[in-house]
Amino acid sequence: MKVKVGINGYGTIGKRVAHAVSKQDDMELVGVTKTKPDFGAYRAKELGIPVYAASPDFLTRFKKVGFEVAGTLEDLLEKVDVIVDATPGGMGAKNKELYEAHGVKAVFEGGEKASLVQASFVAQANYEAALGKDYVRVVSCNTTGLTRTLSAIQEYINYVYAVMIRRAADPDDIKRGPINAIQPSVKVPSHHGPDVQTILPINIETTAFVVPTTLMHVHSVMVELKKPLAREDVIDIFENTTRVLLFEEGRGFSSTAQLIEFARDLHREWNNLYEIAVWKESINVKGNRLFYIQAVHQESDVVPENIDAIRAMFELADKWESIKKTNRSLGILK
Ligand code: NAD
Repeated sequence: MKVKVGINGYGTIGKRVAHAVSKQDDMELVGVTKTKPDFGAYRAKELGIPVYAASPDFLTRFKKVGFEVAGTLEDLLEKVDVIVDATPGGMGAKNKELYEAHGVKAVFEGGEKASLVQASFVAQANYEAALGKDYVRVVSCNTTGLTRTLSAIQEYINYVYAVMIRRAADPDDIKRGPINAIQPSVKVPSHHGPDVQTILPINIETTAFVVPTTLMHVHSVMVELKKPLAREDVIDIFENTTRVLLFEEGRGFSSTAQLIEFARDLHREWNNLYEIAVWKESINVKGNRLFYIQAVHQESDVVPENIDAIRAMFELADKWESIKKTNRSLGILK
């Protein structure tokens, strides 16, 4: 029996998760919601995905242009076992009551608060925390990126300080900026450290800056080590960590531009780079301090986590069975 999945909010994350769900043999994509009949709605229809109006208030927009919807969100909720809420941050909290009323499990995204759910989630770090749960939050792109590499070296961590260099907007977003400035997050430390702590019990502080780019985030990570760890050991650990890839500046990966080009060369959907990219040359140990620099493709790193979260919530597979299955289905390199 396949788990029936609906997607509420078919934007950057929603459309990628919908695509990923459609690649799973133990899940069925039942439908997605749209607020208006834009090109995204027409594309979903072309792909054979039933489109539902996100609310009855939006039905007239669809009627006006003769776009036939399969119903409204409430109709979709009657047909699914789980809804992935990929609406803009904060909206999920408002939607939860509706999901509860329909007896439907829900996966929320990183724009929601940890207190909304029973577990915050990054598959390789805490898959078991979501087993059998009804409400799970896949944490933000940055938190997922930090958690993937830090969980691999968790036993060596005394303290982490990481600087988040954040992309200003996603490529399709023309409303956000800055377009010619560097904007520090004056809340110091930033919220990213505490967000990692919703998954990993480590001592971590972060600061954050927004810069005018759309491609990826970059993290500069410094770890104060609890016990000795050589550079070669870290390389070995990351080489054996799922959803983390090492890239060499010496091979032409000198910026986020080449990382995205690499994903394009792989013919990945939407040039998704699901894996966290660590620059191999940046891995260095000085005394009891480890340094490394990594990049996060904000539009896609959380996508496999949504799939694993669903498997955990329905207890369809154990941790490594699910991670491997998801990786295979999306062409994740390791
Ligand atoms: P988005 O703006 O690209 O997509 C949101 C979609 O929801 C849009 O299509 C919008 O039209 C639709 N929507 C708006 N109001 C709605 C409503 N009332 N009901 C249903 N749908 C509605 O946003 P996104 O970037 O995909 O973000 C979704 C969630 O994922 C947020 O929690 C965000 O924090 C999180 N997230 C985003 C990124 C990223 O970099 N884009 C990365 C990781 C996590």
